[in-house]
Amino acid sequence: MVEFQILVEGYAHPGKNGEYEASPTSLLLVSNGQRIVVDPGTNKKLLLAGLEKAGINADDVKSVFITHYHPDHFLNYKLFPNADLIDGQIIWSDEREIFYSDTISGTEIKVVATPGHTEENTSLLFETKEFGTVAHAADVFWWEDGQQKTDDYEKLLSHIDPFVTDVEKLKASRISILKMADYIIPGHGKMFKNNFKG
Ligand SMILES: [Zn+2]
Repeated sequence: MVEFQILVEGYAHPGKNGEYEASPTSLLLVSNGQRIVVDPGTNKKLLLAGLEKAGINADDVKSVFITHYHPDHFLNYKLFPNADLIDGQIIWSDEREIFYSDTISGTEIKVVATPGHTEENTSLLFETKEFGTVAHAADVFWWEDGQQKTDDYEKLLSHIDPFVTDVEKLKASRISILKMADYIIPGHGKMFKNNFKG
């Protein structure tokens, strides 16, 4: 079993002066005693508050997982001076690049390639006591504030991602996450129950 805690709930909306404001859902995962922060995002204040609530000092975090290389997902990596960076294929530990596959080394957290939003977009799947199989699907699913809709299968598949790099791959990734997860944590938006599993 994997324990998880949402440190920051992801959001995305236009700002007041023509800029855009976004931070993804940042997650704390604990598996076999290892703590991993997923997508530390952009909002320093909310992230530090989330860590404090979880009783964690950023200096003590040894692993930060990045779902894909969009700056809104990784900007706060700088807050974790002692953490390796893990992406969907490699653990970046100082000058060493350690290739891995299937699960994050030493944990029960599965990595699943879910391309489409970007080619390297990776989702995490893990078993939990309370919610069954949970997927952090990064930007396979994401919504601007107020736009989230999760009760219609076709809409989940066809929802337009303005930053998509490959529409067909994104759709295939959405189908595969919907087959596997009981609950889905989107890149930006609220964790939701998946009514279309199986
Ligand atoms: Zn993105």
